[in-house]
Amino acid sequence: MPHTHQDPKITAKNVAWVDRSSYLAHTIRILEYSVSKVRRKPFVIIVRKNLGNSKTRADFNDRKNYCDIFLADTVEYMDNKKFRLVLAHELGHLFYNFDNLNKTGFSFDSEDAPLEEELYAWIFAYWLIFEKSEMFKSRGGDKDSIFEGDELKQALLTLIRESGVVDADYICKHVANQ
Ligand SMILES: [Zn+2]
Repeated sequence: MPHTHQDPKITAKNVAWVDRSSYLAHTIRILEYSVSKVRRKPFVIIVRKNLGNSKTRADFNDRKNYCDIFLADTVEYMDNKKFRLVLAHELGHLFYNFDNLNKTGFSFDSEDAPLEEELYAWIFAYWLIFEKSEMFKSRGGDKDSIFEGDELKQALLTLIRESGVVDADYICKHVANQ
């Protein structure tokens, strides 16, 4: 972010191009709004990058009115398809825990998620990026975010195997049937 308000053209230029920490911004806005209503106080999702993280993970606890999504350094080298799936996966953890987000003392860390939650988050990621792709197709939008279902599924299966998650075979089997 620029610290100047002196040149509107430069300021506009600096904020116009979408950085990876701003991907899926519309979905994030919907989620922030929905959680704010449940918690009856403002809630935001902060996507952070370049922090030396070895794993991408989402972290929430009831004491803070925000959820951190820490991006692993490796996301910088991912193609668009994989990166969108990885970020969507973390949002999937939030949707899975949605009904608990207004409970006193509730917390979660996506790294410690049970298998059922992990499976939910991967299936959600597939369908979210699939739907966004369909939306871009119908509107003639962002070509870099349009994928066929099969290539999306292949990318997802590769990501699950690379993630080192326990029960990757079990998750892949269910995802493949989507
Ligand atoms: Zn996960």
